[in-house]
Amino acid sequence: GNRIRVDKLLAHMGLGTRSEIKRAVKLGMVAVDGRIVKDSGLIVDPDAAEVTYDGTPVIYRDVVYFMLNKPQGVISATEDGRERTVIDLLEPQDRLRDPFPVGRLDKDTVGLLLLTNDGQLAHELLSPRKHVEKTYEALVLGEVGEDDKQAFNAGVTLDDGYETMPAKLRIDRYEQREDGMYSEISLTIMEGKFHQVKRMFEAVGKQVVYLKRVSMGPLLLDDSLPEGSYRELTEEEVDLLR
Ligand code: URA
Repeated sequence: GNRIRVDKLLAHMGLGTRSEIKRAVKLGMVAVDGRIVKDSGLIVDPDAAEVTYDGTPVIYRDVVYFMLNKPQGVISATEDGRERTVIDLLEPQDRLRDPFPVGRLDKDTVGLLLLTNDGQLAHELLSPRKHVEKTYEALVLGEVGEDDKQAFNAGVTLDDGYETMPAKLRIDRYEQREDGMYSEISLTIMEGKFHQVKRMFEAVGKQVVYLKRVSMGPLLLDDSLPEGSYRELTEEEVDLLR
């Protein structure tokens, strides 16, 4: 069967960082098949062994976490009758554990999308009560100014009457083109209403023409990932999220 180090297994299951698990092993808190584990590098078959942590059986689930730099033209869903989805971008072996996207990016939005089969983590990142910050970079048609900064900081009213929570707007650059002035900006929001960034700019009379998510909570998009590519999160990144 499957073989994995017991400290890795416990870290995977969210019982602590690798060094916290090592400490727990030293304290005699970890047992396999009823025997106290002395070596945190012990190799076990998670499907066959009974691993306990502080006396409680640890149910093994094979969790996976991928960071995708979503390209334009794919849907943030697991299945769609006609359109290509972000799951279609994964290698067949990476689809086996049924990862799903944590939240949605529009079809034409690019950037950071977390894919996991860890329902609990997904739930916490998406919970409206947690106010997880998401930062976007955008190209906006119009001259974004101090008045927009203030408006976003105070909250704007979307087309459906919803009042947004305070959001941080940074203006990076202006570019004059034939069809008008464009602004490169960065916006951090603490909620995730449908088309929120685009609708916030609509609320101040401007149009988002390019949108990229660069962070979600403590997780930052890896600059070295080309659009359409993905990689597993590092252990450190998974720890940051929990
Ligand atoms: N806001 C949007 O308008 N679209 C996205 O994809 C994400 C945030």
